[in-house]
Amino acid sequence: MSLPAHAESPATLPHGVVLRHDWTLAEVRSLHDLPLLELLYRAQTVHRASFGEHRVQLCSLLSIKTGGCPEDCAYCPQAARHHTGVAADKLLTETDVLEAATRARAAGATRFCMGAAWREVKDGPQFEQVLGMVRGVRALGMEACCTLGMLTESQAHRLAEAGLTAYNHNLDTSAEFYGEIISTRTYQDRLRTLRHVRAAGINVCSGGILGMGESVEDRCGMLLTLANQPTHPESVPINALVAVPGTPLEHQRPVEPVEMVRVIATARLLMPLAMVRLSAGRLSMSREAQLLCMMAGANSLFFGEKLLTTDNPEYADDMALLAAAGVKPLEPYAGR
Ligand code: SF4
Repeated sequence: MSLPAHAESPATLPHGVVLRHDWTLAEVRSLHDLPLLELLYRAQTVHRASFGEHRVQLCSLLSIKTGGCPEDCAYCPQAARHHTGVAADKLLTETDVLEAATRARAAGATRFCMGAAWREVKDGPQFEQVLGMVRGVRALGMEACCTLGMLTESQAHRLAEAGLTAYNHNLDTSAEFYGEIISTRTYQDRLRTLRHVRAAGINVCSGGILGMGESVEDRCGMLLTLANQPTHPESVPINALVAVPGTPLEHQRPVEPVEMVRVIATARLLMPLAMVRLSAGRLSMSREAQLLCMMAGANSLFFGEKLLTTDNPEYADDMALLAAAGVKPLEPYAGR
């Protein structure tokens, strides 16, 4: 199975799947608040119409530059101002990154994501190094994704020329709640980078985090902003906060799995063709909760760096879960 083309017109696709970009908050909220089984039924119906057989894309994430970030994202252990014990490392070498990508590919990952704890990309040797990593990952036959902070238009074009498949830049939450979580940049900064990524022809990966103290309205507001973009993001990661000691959100109560399920199902209904990624926080969910998230339309799983060691028990658990559910991993697709 290959991913559906991401053309946004005509608005009605085969099997009656409708792409809309004019949702209202009230509409999003009414979907989110449907009786759970009705919500699941609708989301699964749209999911099947969009994708057919349920397959899951396996993504591997490597931190290529860890810690020491000047931003103040309240959830993040990599912010230099939070005392979380995360050391500030240098940018990894291209050789190290490509070795990690090769191991991830051998373990079944079709997308390799590289994250750097930067506020923004700066032109210069480090950016050139990242461009080399992107070329190398593509040469391995994998999709390459980066998350490097804010980008200028020309940097987005250079990443596109290097073959970057997707750029991750999460909105995290609603515009209204954003200032409670981050003060060192604005929602508009975020949306500007998304526009640069889109204009360069790179797929957009953008989602959010649940459990930071936001309201249900904020969750719906974030989904609304994503769904009302001129083109829907090709991928929408939904994270549950991992409350790390030393961060301002260390005492947040964990998100209930059913809250994740509701947001995933709503994302599936609003953005029928997006890959909805079950991302951080997954390891604290039961197998049943993870399966319910897949039922709600999640069709991509993030593996942590620990995927990169072959005898990793978490990796083995993931494969056992997919096998038990009869869900097959997705092959790489031939697009960008
Ligand atoms: S910009 Fe990224 S790495 Fe830096 S503090 Fe925010 S989430 Fe963490």
